[in-house]
Amino acid sequence: MCVRSCFQSPRLQWVWRTAFLKHTQRRHQGSHRWTHLGGSTYRAVIFDMGGVLIPSPGRVAAEWEVQNRIPSGTILKALMEGGENGPWMRFMRAEITAEGFLREFGRLCSEMLKTSVPVDSFFSLLTSERVAKQFPVMTEAITQIRAKGLQTAVLSNNFYLPNQKSFLPLDRKQFDVIVESCMEGICKPDPRIYKLCLEQLGLQPSESIFLDDLGTNLKEAARLGIHTIKVNDPETAVKELEALLGFTLRVGVPNTRPVKKTMEIPKDSLQKYLKDLLGIQTTGPLELLQFDHGQSNPTYYIRLANRDLVLRKKPPGTLLPSAHAIEREFRIMKALANAGVPVPNVLDLCEDSSVIGTPFYVMEYCPGLIYKDPSLPGLEPSHRRAIYTAMNTVLCKIHSVDLQAVGLEDYGKQGDYIPRQVRTWVKQYRASETSTIPAMERLIEWLPLHLPRQQRTTVVHGDFRLDNLVFHPEEPEVLAVLDWELSTLGDPLADVAYSCLAHYLPSSFPVLRGINDCDLTQLGIPAAEEYFRMYCLQMGLPPTENWNFYMAFSFFRVAAILQGVYKRSLTGQASSTYAEQTGKLTEFVSNLAWDFAVKEGFRVFKEMPFTNPLTRSYHTWARPQSQWCPTGSRSYSSVPEASPAHTSRGGLVISPESLSPPVRELYHRLKHFMEQRVYPAEPELQSHQASAARWSPSPLIEDLKVCNCSAPDTGNMELLVRYGTEAQKARWLIPLLEGKARSCFAMTEPQVASSDATNIEASIREEDSFYVINGHKWWITGILDPRCQLCVFMGKTDPHAPRHRQQSVLLVPMDTPGIKIIRPLTVYGLEDAPGGHGEVRFEHVRVPKENMVLGPGRGFEIAQGRLGPGRIHHCMRLIGFSERALALMKARVKSRLAFGKPLVEQGTVLADIAQSRVEIEQARLLVLRAAHLMDLAGNKAAALDIAMIKMVAPSMASRVIDRAIQAFGAAGLSSDYPLAQFFTWARALRFADGPDEVHRATVAKLELKHRI
Ligand SMILES: Cc1cc2nc3c(=O)[nH]c(=O)nc-3n(C[C@H](O)[C@H](O)[C@H](O)COP(=O)(O)OP(=O)(O)OC[C@H]3O[C@@H](n4cnc5c(N)ncnc54)[C@H](O)[C@@H]3O)c2cc1C
Repeated sequence: MCVRSCFQSPRLQWVWRTAFLKHTQRRHQGSHRWTHLGGSTYRAVIFDMGGVLIPSPGRVAAEWEVQNRIPSGTILKALMEGGENGPWMRFMRAEITAEGFLREFGRLCSEMLKTSVPVDSFFSLLTSERVAKQFPVMTEAITQIRAKGLQTAVLSNNFYLPNQKSFLPLDRKQFDVIVESCMEGICKPDPRIYKLCLEQLGLQPSESIFLDDLGTNLKEAARLGIHTIKVNDPETAVKELEALLGFTLRVGVPNTRPVKKTMEIPKDSLQKYLKDLLGIQTTGPLELLQFDHGQSNPTYYIRLANRDLVLRKKPPGTLLPSAHAIEREFRIMKALANAGVPVPNVLDLCEDSSVIGTPFYVMEYCPGLIYKDPSLPGLEPSHRRAIYTAMNTVLCKIHSVDLQAVGLEDYGKQGDYIPRQVRTWVKQYRASETSTIPAMERLIEWLPLHLPRQQRTTVVHGDFRLDNLVFHPEEPEVLAVLDWELSTLGDPLADVAYSCLAHYLPSSFPVLRGINDCDLTQLGIPAAEEYFRMYCLQMGLPPTENWNFYMAFSFFRVAAILQGVYKRSLTGQASSTYAEQTGKLTEFVSNLAWDFAVKEGFRVFKEMPFTNPLTRSYHTWARPQSQWCPTGSRSYSSVPEASPAHTSRGGLVISPESLSPPVRELYHRLKHFMEQRVYPAEPELQSHQASAARWSPSPLIEDLKVCNCSAPDTGNMELLVRYGTEAQKARWLIPLLEGKARSCFAMTEPQVASSDATNIEASIREEDSFYVINGHKWWITGILDPRCQLCVFMGKTDPHAPRHRQQSVLLVPMDTPGIKIIRPLTVYGLEDAPGGHGEVRFEHVRVPKENMVLGPGRGFEIAQGRLGPGRIHHCMRLIGFSERALALMKARVKSRLAFGKPLVEQGTVLADIAQSRVEIEQARLLVLRAAHLMDLAGNKAAALDIAMIKMVAPSMASRVIDRAIQAFGAAGLSSDYPLAQFFTWARALRFADGPDEVHRATVAKLELKHRI
């Protein structure tokens, strides 16, 4: 089974191939334990329900917590709260109804988290048909137990549903006795309830075996003399039960079923073919079963004349040329077997479609153990370690195969594996994209810019995971590596990273069971870093530095696959709850992938050499048209353009001389343009600002405009790039990028302290297919500009949601009725025409629902994401003002005499110039560092640096400009020079994008959190 088909299951469960586990082996294990235990006879097996026959509430809670972003362990803690007298136990004894329980339980959880917790949805999930399903392995075991004449019972702490029936999602006919706490008014571990169960079975304690997942319940049973089995994992528990009972609890070949009608293959011609192939004369009937897995390439179990075989075929119908290439699977397994890699023994490839309708191949059925749970329950720590070491060793073996010697040089393209893979998965993701997932967008930008240089080309498995390995039943030895569907030639490190996915996923993750919440040291399982080191050591390679990249890519790939599942589920093949859950999983995994990208960014940043101004650097500051941009439209990003691998290692550029030649050229052109066209135009611009026509754009600016980098447009463009839908981008982003429209950002409100964005009160209410806005805003920069077409509006959609989920962002066209501009505000008397800073009322402003950005409740997140780039632009402008002020000051003090000598010869003036230069350079370095970190590791990772520059730059500029004003004398305050205006702007920027204190608080918080 390949990773794609594993996600195709409607209930998102692993499709495990225990099929390869020969049940004879299990019998062997069973009899071994039987002898060991002395072989007493039992007459009944008693099962707990939740955690034994169906998933436990704890496990369901963990899944639900991940999906609802509730801190892990909350539900379990609340269930245990109050012990015997807590709401859960009283509910189990039917002392309170389901409604009463949910009320109390909800209150308890909400008190614990200080926010409302939707426990009703947990209860619905717990009791849903999807979740509350008996484990097939238990159904099989019960059938076998009863077939042997033993009794079976359920002894469960259980509850009544709101319909007054007890919650029993089981087939009652499977049990002789059912004892439920809610019916008896007593719960386990009260001894009376065990006695009641035994009484109804008519047995002595020693004649029964009791299975439960809770130690306290087992302890009491054991005290009464009942034999007990602790259930961590149903499969392992059944094996233990088999050992006690002394007979097999499995029917037939595991994970197989009768062949589906639509999947039947002609038995007669297959039998004839196999007789010829195997050279056998007489056979009994051919037994044919179908494995549950192998949706992509149907897979069958065959038993003929005591031979256990597996047949894998192409699916019927018209196929894409490169898909379902079973010939490749056959080829690689045959070649690898010759190279000593453990693989199933392939017997024949039959490309003649007349035999069973499609080409197929046959291999031997490989007996052994497949470990489905990566935490390896029931094993000793040393055994676990040995299993992971064996996994690592076999991977090294695969990657050490001499391609030429085994004739696999043409099995795939040489080199460029990761770039091709990234392209493939980006394409797959785009094809199934349903809405913008910010982390996916960032990864799509980031991955191509940080491609590692491929060191080696080897066979890569493409889906190398623990559960694709068949192990020896007693030794930590891999007997066969399965599922070669995605194999090719490529970068071996991709396989190493992929085999560590489980290390970073929680054990409750519904698709891929993980171990990130397990104590690996205690379990004996090597941590991912150690696993990587182990690989490098075995391969004789230097330690892999950039494995965070490979992890980011592996999770990106999983997220792209999940998105495909989500899209298919939206087409109606699954329930809406299911679809919603899958959607959340994609986001969860993409965030994990992004975390690795951030870690990689930090690693590169830490190792980054600071460039010598004389040496070459590859750094650029703007990115041209993105090759990944799906619409082919222009894209804007603060991510640098890069030649893969080079730029990610490019040093921090600190002077124009160390810019790359094309960027240096751009820099000089811009400088020339400023000197020739912009500075000389300042007086004319000033007179326009003082004229009656000032609220219309100055024709001079329209003529000069080249950079299109004004606030708040750049921040809004960034917002649209990151979070906008394709339709939103087409409507708003393109005109903004082309400089044909302007925009504003409306967050601040006069009635609340807006430095805390969660205070924002303006209401956004749903009404049919519209949102209706009411609110009062002020300091809305740019709103008075006649070209302003878009207002990015922040308001509250749900005042009862958790604090950071109440706000949403809407795109409001400026010509929507109800937007009333009350007045322009002034900054020290400056109006900043024609954009201005407006005070505005929004009265019943109706906006179509599709104008919501990212979704309701995401406003805070968007505002945060937007501010990073916006802030750094402000800081860069401030450095520009400061440079300009210092240049004006220097010219002035050289030409003006006081007390018999030029001002420049006065000591205090010299000290001021020196001080200003130092302060500008200090701030510039910090800003460049922040920008570089944003490019390498993203805005989130650069949060501390962004807060630091916001603290530093405006006050630095205020001081530098103030010194220049002082040196100018009174003229510095006049509008004859730009200094007064610069000063005003620098002062205002100590508020705009949040006051200094808020940034200081952020710096201090991060300092205390991350540094010793
Ligand atoms: C020129 C200019 C342009 C602007 N443009 C826009 C715009 O386009 N869109 C928009 O929505 N807003 C804009 N603003 C508004 C700006 O974002 C807010 O003024 C800023 O967020 C502060 O909010 P407030 O004015 O409500 O101050 P308050 O939140 O009332 O804060 C007042 C003071 O309290 C103190 N304080 C606050 N928090 C803390 C803390 N954690 N620790 C210590 N002290 C604290 C600070 O001294 C702060 O100055 C602009 C402001 C200016 C001056």
